[in-house]
Amino acid sequence: MRELFSLRDPALAARFRELLRKLQPREPVRIVHVCGTHEITIAQYGLRSLLPETVEVLEGPGCPVCVTSTQDLDCALQLAERGATLCTFGDMTRVPGTRMTLEEARAEGADVRVVLSAADAVEIARRQPERPVVFFAVGFETTAPGTAAVLLDNPPDNFFVLASHKLIPPALAALLSIPPVAIAAFLAPGHVSTVIGAGAYRAIAARFRVPIVVAGFEPLDVLYGIALALRQLREGRAEVENAYPRSVTEAGNLRAQELMRAVFRVGPALWRGIGEIPASGLYLREEFAAHDARREFGVEGRLGEEKPPGCRCAEVLLARAVPTDCPLYGTACTPLTPVGPCMVGAEGACNIWYRYAGRPRL
Ligand code: SF4
Repeated sequence: MRELFSLRDPALAARFRELLRKLQPREPVRIVHVCGTHEITIAQYGLRSLLPETVEVLEGPGCPVCVTSTQDLDCALQLAERGATLCTFGDMTRVPGTRMTLEEARAEGADVRVVLSAADAVEIARRQPERPVVFFAVGFETTAPGTAAVLLDNPPDNFFVLASHKLIPPALAALLSIPPVAIAAFLAPGHVSTVIGAGAYRAIAARFRVPIVVAGFEPLDVLYGIALALRQLREGRAEVENAYPRSVTEAGNLRAQELMRAVFRVGPALWRGIGEIPASGLYLREEFAAHDARREFGVEGRLGEEKPPGCRCAEVLLARAVPTDCPLYGTACTPLTPVGPCMVGAEGACNIWYRYAGRPRL
């Protein structure tokens, strides 16, 4: 507990500000993180006010709800409308598909339930064996092992998974492949990295000559990560550094990786606002076909409008705009009246900026 509080120490934060000033780049640089939890820490503790003027830190595609495609959402809607009990995480029910949200489907009589984990959905399936129960599985490498674990644990025959898990390293590579690239360095998410290991980013850092620093979620963790990234830029290095060694190792959680490999195969996936990213999605292997909702029920989504008119979520997800660049931010679009997915998800940049007083440079 004492360690936790020391990572929020204002006096140490002030010393970090001095360090960041010493490392200040002459030209403007943009450091991108891909994690709603990082953005919450940055906004909640006003960390942007400690950054040198030439340093900008933005959230990219770090909110699993925001990046789930309308195609996958439409599949979930079809399943719910055909009589399955559709279980998913809370924010997912409020994201628009091409026709409606899962919440609206529930209002029209569909059985849509909010769960905290895949195991909760299995429990529901056991309690109602007469009805198919589908877990709409979204999220990154942090939630995928949980989905894999329940599938390996002999789930009931009426339990199905609509797999929509996504992988973070291919997303980093995609952001660096779409011109114009304006990303000087990445902060990699501590929780994802705990699973996949710091080593998972080394090929990307070498291929794109970009520094990648694995960072934790306390305020001083984030400042430390930014300082390491700036130091690499100053020294002309492009390496992977682990600023979160109390949780992240080079190899990661081998058991969790084993679970994912046993259950999922890797394939291309659609990311809302970005498009298709090769080898960035997880799909059920043949051995689990009997629990694969797509195969069992033959649902198919179609490519829909990924963002409503006027919404700049695509640019926000690509870290090419900040929420306040959007004319709808805080007027037509608020957490109570979300227009785009970045305002729906609690880990979406627009939602976070709005919740923390709409003043990200606190
Ligand atoms: S403020 Fe709303 S409409 Fe604008 S980019 Fe964000 S989610 Fe989209």
